[in-house]
Amino acid sequence: MNMRLVLLGAPGSGKGTQGERLAKKLNVPQLSTGDILRSAIRGGSELGKKADAFMSKGELVPNQLILDVMAERLAKDDCKNGYILDGFPRTIAQAEGLDKILEAANAKLDAAINIDVKEEEVIRRLGGRRQCSKCSAVYHNEFSPSKKGNICDKCDGELYQRGDDTDATIRNRLKIYKQETAPLIDYYKRCLKNVDGVGTGDEIFKRICSLIGI
Ligand code: AMP
Repeated sequence: MNMRLVLLGAPGSGKGTQGERLAKKLNVPQLSTGDILRSAIRGGSELGKKADAFMSKGELVPNQLILDVMAERLAKDDCKNGYILDGFPRTIAQAEGLDKILEAANAKLDAAINIDVKEEEVIRRLGGRRQCSKCSAVYHNEFSPSKKGNICDKCDGELYQRGDDTDATIRNRLKIYKQETAPLIDYYKRCLKNVDGVGTGDEIFKRICSLIGI
């Protein structure tokens, strides 16, 4: 289905997990700026080098760098019928930049979905999170472990703990989320869908689907 969606929510609220499900159901790409940047860091590109300095501290990568990356990505053919934006925009300046990109393409967002999860729960989730180094699938030591221990169930890649999922960095990311990203909930009020982010992946996915009528 032809849809352009933005996923909002604190780090650890489940944007990646729900974004993947939505992308499959709608048959559109899921674009995670975090995954794009992590893969640039692994590949050793100029973008990766610039981004690493910010990401390792839990700080936001500068707006212009992110907007350049996304303008290029959103112009690709696979985005013609829509996309799920996961982790972008993260500041008002990025949201304004996205508005310009949309306007130039004569397109509009269908909805901004805010996944609502309390701070203590987010801290618990992020501490146990593990990610596949090959396919980026996300696991949790306690809530959704891989059946193969430290190996990805989907692609046999090795799981790792993100460098920014440590205590001090998690706290910094949450502080920045409140200051920079939470204001987007108001920015997108004309197309905002609020969803309770506590429950099983299936439950939350059903809530989202019913909110956006798919
Ligand atoms: P995520 O995987 O979405 O939690 O992102 C991990 C990190 O990548 C963030 O803490 C930021 O350092 C950086 N990042 C990802 N998306 C953005 C963005 N839209 N703007 C700025 N920094 C970003």
